[in-house]
Amino acid sequence: MNLKDFKIANHLTTIFRHIVQIIAFILINYIILELIFSINLISFERLFKILPILNSPRNPISTGAGILEYIFFSIIEGIIPIFLLGVFILVILFTNRFFCGWICPIGAIQDACAAIPTNKRTLKISTHNSLLKIKYVIIIFLIILLIPLGIVYSTNISFYIEFRNNLGDFGDNPLSYFSLSEYIFVFFPDLVKEIFQEASLGPLFTNFLVFFISIFYLILIVLSVWYPRVYCRYFCPFAALSSTISDYSFLKLSRSPVRCVGRTECGICEKVCPKQIRILDEPFEFFTGKGECNYCLKCREACPYKAINIKIG
Ligand code: SF4
Ligand code: SF4
Repeated sequence: MNLKDFKIANHLTTIFRHIVQIIAFILINYIILELIFSINLISFERLFKILPILNSPRNPISTGAGILEYIFFSIIEGIIPIFLLGVFILVILFTNRFFCGWICPIGAIQDACAAIPTNKRTLKISTHNSLLKIKYVIIIFLIILLIPLGIVYSTNISFYIEFRNNLGDFGDNPLSYFSLSEYIFVFFPDLVKEIFQEASLGPLFTNFLVFFISIFYLILIVLSVWYPRVYCRYFCPFAALSSTISDYSFLKLSRSPVRCVGRTECGICEKVCPKQIRILDEPFEFFTGKGECNYCLKCREACPYKAINIKIG
């Protein structure tokens, strides 16, 4: 086996994962299919609406860019989204955060940035652990603010209207400022359209929050070149909710105490992990990195002693 074949064989999982990510990216943003093949898929839009993960940015009936966006949107409309919540919990129970590593288009964008050859950096453990809490603060803030809005919908409609009006854009698209997928696939295309229609950058500056969020997300995407998955790690509301269920999932990773030679002798798995998970501090029996693991399987692929395995059940 020559060196090139050896490198390919050693990265087969990552190559396969990137192929899946590209296919998922195109399917989720089916406007790309329309552009490539000059076809009109508008008749399928109701299907895409039912499958909230599949949603085009130009979908006129869109109210969000992903399942969590739909869940929050339903809540502020006074609907308890039992079906969507059930789907969300079941998906995490059966596949853990596989979606984050293999399907999520925002993950794919960050992985594409991280593929730019640079020296990857890690944060101090204490800083990393503190930053991990940001996404939980975001989700708690959203729950505290939006669930009462859903409750008053059926008890006091005039208060509801006033409450929602006071929230402005935030009341119409609750996750637009906090979800990068909502921003990139719904909010940003609308902003670009306005900029083109007005032939000026004015729409970017009319609202301080829009300007701030646009700069903030741009910085995060640039940072993901050196700090892989920086948005997923610290800011993603989907990550916050799914990581709380992750430990109960039937899909996990395990590390063989017989094969693994430890951090001093090796430690390669921790070096390649894009989520900066301290794999070697996790239990052998199973690990999820406290819910942070997204099943990219880079650690498994890189382990020279084949010590990391997928565990089902
Ligand atoms: S790469 Fe494998 S052998 Fe090396 S420390 Fe990690 S699990 Fe252990
Ligand atoms: S622990 Fe392994 S599978 Fe999980 S995110 Fe890190 S490298 Fe990927």
